[in-house]
Amino acid sequence: MAKIAMTTPLVEMDGDEMTRILWQMIKDNLICPYVDLKTEYYDLGLKNRDNTDDAVTLESARATQRLGVAVKCATITPNAARVEEYGLKSMWKSPNGTIRAALDGTVFRAPILVKGIEPNVRNWQKPITLARHAYGDVYRNTEMRIPGPGKVELVYTADDGTETRELVHRFEGPGVAQGMHNLDNSIASFAHACFSFALDSKQDLWFATKDTISKTYDHRFKDIFQEIYDAQYAEKFKEAGIVYFYTLIDDAVARVMKSPGGFIWACKNYDGDVMSDMVSSAFGSLAMMTSVLVSPQGCWEYEAAHGTVQRHYYRYLKGEETSTNSVATIFAWTGALRKRGELDQLPELVDFANRLERATLATIESGKMTKDLALITSIENPQVLNSREFILAIRDMLEG
Ligand code: NAP
Ligand code: MG
Repeated sequence: MAKIAMTTPLVEMDGDEMTRILWQMIKDNLICPYVDLKTEYYDLGLKNRDNTDDAVTLESARATQRLGVAVKCATITPNAARVEEYGLKSMWKSPNGTIRAALDGTVFRAPILVKGIEPNVRNWQKPITLARHAYGDVYRNTEMRIPGPGKVELVYTADDGTETRELVHRFEGPGVAQGMHNLDNSIASFAHACFSFALDSKQDLWFATKDTISKTYDHRFKDIFQEIYDAQYAEKFKEAGIVYFYTLIDDAVARVMKSPGGFIWACKNYDGDVMSDMVSSAFGSLAMMTSVLVSPQGCWEYEAAHGTVQRHYYRYLKGEETSTNSVATIFAWTGALRKRGELDQLPELVDFANRLERATLATIESGKMTKDLALITSIENPQVLNSREFILAIRDMLEG
C-alpha cells in the first residue's frame, strides 16, 4: 500500500532517556510504515544541547514559528546531579521554558479517556482541559520578612519620577509581606490562546479568578478577557455553538466537581499549577495526559505531559524489561500529524492520526496494557505487556 504523503515537514524535537527509546519505537512501528514522514529534525537530547551550548533548543523553537507544528519528546531539565552525570558545560535551562518563552505560548493539558480507566470523579465523562497562564504572580514575586513595627508601602515610580504610594500595612509587630505583578500583554496573549483553542476544539471556555477580593489585580484579568472576547470572539463562539463564561474561582471549583467535563478551564498561574495536578491525578494517570503549547500566532507544539521516565531507563540500560506507557507520546505524534493534515488539507493524514488513536485505545480496552494502567484498571485480568510488546499490539490492532 502507498504511504500517506505529507507536504510540510513537522518540527521533530527528540529528547532523553526512556522516552527517547519509545520515540524511535513509535516512529519505526506506528508511523513510518504508513506515512511518508517528513520532519525537520532537532536533537534536544541533553548531550546535543550541551554540544550546541543549547542553541539547538532555540533553533527548534524558531523552526516551529516558521513551520507551525512541532512534536516534542520529553527532555531532561538539568539539575546538579545531571550536570555531574552528563559532564555538562553548564546547567542549561528547561527546554520547555525556553520554547514557551520563544513562542509566548499557553500550555493546554488534557487527559486521554479510555474505557477501563475510570476517573475518580464519577460524573466526569469527558476530558477537562486545563489552560494555565505561565507568567507572573507569585512565581515572580518579591518577598520580605518584616522584623517589627513599621509601615510597608507599594511604591510605583513612573519614568518621569512621579510617585504613587499605597499603604500595604502598618505593622505593630513582626510579619511578612509580598509584592507581585503581571502584564496586560501577557494576560492578553493568554486570553487569545484560550479563545482560539476553544474555537479549534469546539469546547466551552471557563475562566475564574478572585476578583471580588482582588478588585484591581484579578479584576484586570477578568476585564482583559471580556474586552478581547467582546471585540474579537463573541460572534465566532456563537457560530460555533460554544460558550465563554467567567465566574469566581471557588464557584468554578464546585462546578467542575459536579460537571460531566468536556470544557476548557483557564486558570491563573497558581490556580493552574494546583488544579492541573488535581485534575490529572483524578483522571487516573500522568502517563495518559497530553500537552500542547499554543502560541498567539497559531503555532502548535505537541508533547506528553510526563517526563523522561528516568527510573525505567536505568532498568532498560541494565538490560532489564520495562513496561513504560507510550500512550501520551503516541498522542503527541497523532496530535501533530492531525494538525499538519488540517493545515495542509490532507484528509488522509487526519484520518490516519484518528485511526492510530482509536487503535491505541482499543488495545487497552481489549485488556492489553502497560503495568501502570494494569494497576488501576477496572478490566479484569489485564495482560501486562512490556514497552515494545504494547507498541506492537497497537500495530496489530491498526492492521487488524
Ligand atoms: P517522570 O519522568 O514523569 O516519571 C515519574 C514517575 O512517574 C516514573 O518513575 C513512573 O513511576 C511514572 N511514569 C511517568 N511517566 C510514565 C510512563 N509513560 N509510563 C509508566 N510510568 C510513568 O518524572 P521524573 O522522574 O520526576 O523526571 C525525569 C526527568 O524528566 C527529569 O530529568 C525531568 O527534568 C524531566 N521532565 C521533563 C518533562 C518534559 O520534558 N515535559 C516533564 C517533567 C519532567 P514508576 O517509576 O513508579 O513506574
Ligand atoms: Mg505543580
